[in-house]
Amino acid sequence: MKERENQIEEEIRRRIFCGELPSCRPNHRVYGGSGDGISNCSCCGNAITTADSQYDVEQADSASDLLEEVSMHIRCYSVWRRVSELLRMEAPPKKRIFQIAYSRELMCYRSSLLRTRGYEVTSAVGNEAAKTLLMSHFGATYDLFIIGRAAPAHVRFEIACWIRTQFPEGRIVALHPEEDQRIGGLDGLEYNANDGRPQVWVPLVAAALRKGGIASASVQRTPAERGHNV
Ligand SMILES: [Zn+2]
Repeated sequence: MKERENQIEEEIRRRIFCGELPSCRPNHRVYGGSGDGISNCSCCGNAITTADSQYDVEQADSASDLLEEVSMHIRCYSVWRRVSELLRMEAPPKKRIFQIAYSRELMCYRSSLLRTRGYEVTSAVGNEAAKTLLMSHFGATYDLFIIGRAAPAHVRFEIACWIRTQFPEGRIVALHPEEDQRIGGLDGLEYNANDGRPQVWVPLVAAALRKGGIASASVQRTPAERGHNV
């Protein structure tokens, strides 16, 4: 019995990895009944006979907004749930990046580039929008801040100082258009990249995130404590 369950578990893992079976999401809905005698189990692949008990599961895929529907043996359902939960715990958490851009076009370009590399990206255009957004995400943590290049040095310096004040542990990668537009004299500014080519700055982002002992920046203060004079 135990061995059979292990086999089903192996098969479920394989199917989830190959994309043949979605993993079980917390928001799923289950409809139970006797086997319809025509479906194959999405977990183990065997037929669901009329003597079996069957679960039809419905869940929304948050990324695509599509409704996923799978049918399975009741006995396979509990294994599927358990395996999905294990996979969720095994997956490393995504690194979170906050991007301050100064052009909508560059913002979209950079965030889609970073997302395809597996980062979670939140973006704002302009310093004030960035501050408002950051202060409204109470409890959010960011592993890295990216400052875009399409603004004068004093504008980019201003947000770098503000980030340094609000998120003393936060790492910053500042992109700048020209060598003399570099942001200088700021503690904790990890990288200044004066090159717009992704093959130059994306590795800097990866390097900044790889550095040991990253302390995530976190919005920790309550609205009353924040003040507006920073
Ligand atoms: Zn099954």
